[in-house]
Amino acid sequence: MKKEALPKKPYITRGGIHVPHKKNTAAMQTVIMPPPRSVVLPMVQHIGAPCIPVVKPGQRILVGEVIGDSEAFVCAPIHASVSGTVKEIGSLLMPNGASVETVVIESDGLMEHKEYSSPAVGSSEELLRAVRASGLVGLGGAGFPTHVKLRVPPDREIDTLIINGAECEPYITSDHHEIVENSWGVMSGIYAVKELLGVRRVIIGIESNKPDAIELLKNMTENEKYDYKDEIRVLTLKALYPQGAEKMLIKACTGRAVPPGKLPSDVGCVVMNITSVSFLAQYLKTGMPLVSKRITLDGSAIKNPQTVIVPIGTQIKDIIEFCGGYSEPPKKIIYGGPMMGLALSDDSLPVLKQTNAILAFGEKEAEIPEADPCIRCGRCIDNCPMSLMPVCLSASADNCDIEKLRKYDVMTCIECGSCSYICPAHRHLLQSIRTGKQLFKEKTGR
Ligand code: SF4
Ligand code: SF4
Repeated sequence: MKKEALPKKPYITRGGIHVPHKKNTAAMQTVIMPPPRSVVLPMVQHIGAPCIPVVKPGQRILVGEVIGDSEAFVCAPIHASVSGTVKEIGSLLMPNGASVETVVIESDGLMEHKEYSSPAVGSSEELLRAVRASGLVGLGGAGFPTHVKLRVPPDREIDTLIINGAECEPYITSDHHEIVENSWGVMSGIYAVKELLGVRRVIIGIESNKPDAIELLKNMTENEKYDYKDEIRVLTLKALYPQGAEKMLIKACTGRAVPPGKLPSDVGCVVMNITSVSFLAQYLKTGMPLVSKRITLDGSAIKNPQTVIVPIGTQIKDIIEFCGGYSEPPKKIIYGGPMMGLALSDDSLPVLKQTNAILAFGEKEAEIPEADPCIRCGRCIDNCPMSLMPVCLSASADNCDIEKLRKYDVMTCIECGSCSYICPAHRHLLQSIRTGKQLFKEKTGR
């Protein structure tokens, strides 16, 4: 494949909306939370097959030991995030309604771990095995096992690695902090993945609302010491939601459109979250698997919004208590951002590998306005980044009309919520479309 030049500015994308950034924690230094009394580690923290617990109640455990794994290809092992004793193998109802097995570890507060050393990596295959052993999944929220993403089928030629630093959801600042506080890790991880994929073109996409992060990485990539072949470019993207959605990001960074039902690799791209590449660098240096996570804790019901590094499996209520508690009774708690995040039933659920934010809102912000009749303004259509007709999809879903759901291409919806946000009649479009997708999957087996 002929090497394309690095872009000087982003390509034009379709749709998207302007949302208030509310990045309240952007300028605050990340704090590290001490180990909680116990952690709850669900055996599903990724897209793919569940892990099976490999530990027993009463067993002494050290930080970084494998506690769950599976022989399935699309899976990533899960590691103990604190030292202590396995208290129980239980189960937990997740926000998507699925009941999953959990390993509960009672912490001894010592955070003891075995001696770890950097994995021996002499070939691409060894590197892929190391990525799997690290437990890495997409840390930006997707949770897709990274070793699967990086194992590109031989018939696909990848020429561009895109690093997703857009972080377009309001409130969330965890990737931003990763860049500013660990730029070495980011660059080092980019080089590891670049070598693995054999690509000569890397584009780091960051929204314009993070000028310090852009400047820092630009200074590094424009320095011959870090990028002597001039193969890495930081691209300042418009602050436009959902700029971090994979297909929109690929379009903005390369001008290439991923056709419906196709993957980034079909247009020669691999997209990785910026915190994921940074973790990879740390793993290759130390051998310590994925056991902690940086998250944004924010929202009107949180007394002291902060960016916190916590052991994976820490219960939300423990983090909130560590950060000073609630400022008012929470009416809505969300895993992730307000646009695409999942609403939680209570605050006893744990932080997962892919959790990048916990938001808690009080009465006023949690209120959902009554929907009025559609005024046929077309704003939902104009702003859909996937060129869909949300108003028609929503009506088809409400009528359980499978043929129309097919005609309006329901499975192309990325559930970004832009249509609901922009609708002047406050129609609950995304909610209907999600139900329509579920119905379509059940009836067609897709
Ligand atoms: S939620 Fe789906 S239909 Fe609505 S704007 Fe996003 S991609 Fe389009
Ligand atoms: S934005 Fe709302 S009111 Fe306007 S066409 Fe779409 S559903 Fe109807």
